[in-house]
Amino acid sequence: MSTIIKSVKAIATAPQRGCNLVIVKIDTNQQGLYGLGCATFTQRHTPVVTAVEDYMEQLLVGRDPTNVEDNWNVMMNSSYWRNGPVLNNAISGCDMAMWDILGKELGAPVYKLWGGKVREAAPVYRHADGLTPEAVAENVQKYIDAGYQYVRCQMGGYGGRTNYLRTPENSPDGMYFDALSYMRGVPKMFEAVRRICGEEVELLHDIHERLTPIDAIRLAKAVEPYRLFFLEDALPPEMGFWFEKLRDAAAVPIAMGELYNNPLEYMPMIQNRWIDFVRCHISQIGGATPARKLAIICEPFGVRTAWHGPGDVSPVGHVANLHLDLVTPNFGIQEWCGFETRPEIQEVFTGLPWIKDGHAFVNDKPGWGIDIDEEKAKKYQCTNEQPRWLLARLPDGTSVKA
Ligand code: MG
Repeated sequence: MSTIIKSVKAIATAPQRGCNLVIVKIDTNQQGLYGLGCATFTQRHTPVVTAVEDYMEQLLVGRDPTNVEDNWNVMMNSSYWRNGPVLNNAISGCDMAMWDILGKELGAPVYKLWGGKVREAAPVYRHADGLTPEAVAENVQKYIDAGYQYVRCQMGGYGGRTNYLRTPENSPDGMYFDALSYMRGVPKMFEAVRRICGEEVELLHDIHERLTPIDAIRLAKAVEPYRLFFLEDALPPEMGFWFEKLRDAAAVPIAMGELYNNPLEYMPMIQNRWIDFVRCHISQIGGATPARKLAIICEPFGVRTAWHGPGDVSPVGHVANLHLDLVTPNFGIQEWCGFETRPEIQEVFTGLPWIKDGHAFVNDKPGWGIDIDEEKAKKYQCTNEQPRWLLARLPDGTSVKA
């Protein structure tokens, strides 16, 4: 009896409050054979659930889930309008679930299906923060002492908070960001971290697209002496062609692209060698199938992968990131938020990855090797609260990218 898809559903759960996760579960006609995938668009989770249950299910039921490539193309092409975050996430959930099923059917972990491991585990980077340069350095040192070799340094979240805002009367509420204060602080932070923590640790920083192009260039030049591993999201995807100027201005490795949806956004960056690391949120670009292709495209251009790995990637998505990391020669680094140590996550998911000496490991079970307890997941309801940090404004009150 050949395997066919019987049902496709979306599981929305928020084991960490404020972090809506969407997991797709595809069930088959074979007893006990199902797959899981990450479809997490945390800020707009309900349209993704609708896209999965109202559209992907009717497309996929009755099809062979092990024809992953053909099914991916059917999902992408069937809406005519494509490459938006809602549909890409819905497609990703189904795509990863089918890779999980294919692995289980063949009795192999997904990384084996992609050619096998080129490394035993993925080095990861953690996030250190603090309100002063010395406080950041102290937190970097804690990670070094715990065995990590890569640490992202931020001062006061994404920075730029100041008591000297000259905001006009009656300006709306929001997260006000002062670029000048931010730009003064970042080089001081790195000076302190290098002085206190030494030269061995690899340091990273995320601008989070908050600067004008010329200020991003100024900041890249200012941090050049501190030998960063990468400088992330210096500019938004819409400012892509400015990366040529940024690249020419400073010898600072550039990471870009957690906001990419569409190959039209990342292809020029890779072909022109304007970036060093591609940072996609893999559910956002449509799942493991396009991410695997993207990693292979990057290899001859000298671009490495650094898949997005915050708390609003589900554990299934983190495991998919890791399977890609294990098979990709041009892998760079994996972002890590420490989700696997949280009791609520451990309650809902089994087969989680683990960290040893700053490296993330996955198990060798067939498929992704991760499972979800649907009853436990129901305990943690999602909400539609608007996160405040996304309501960013400039000192004059203008709403800007967060
Ligand atoms: Mg980022």
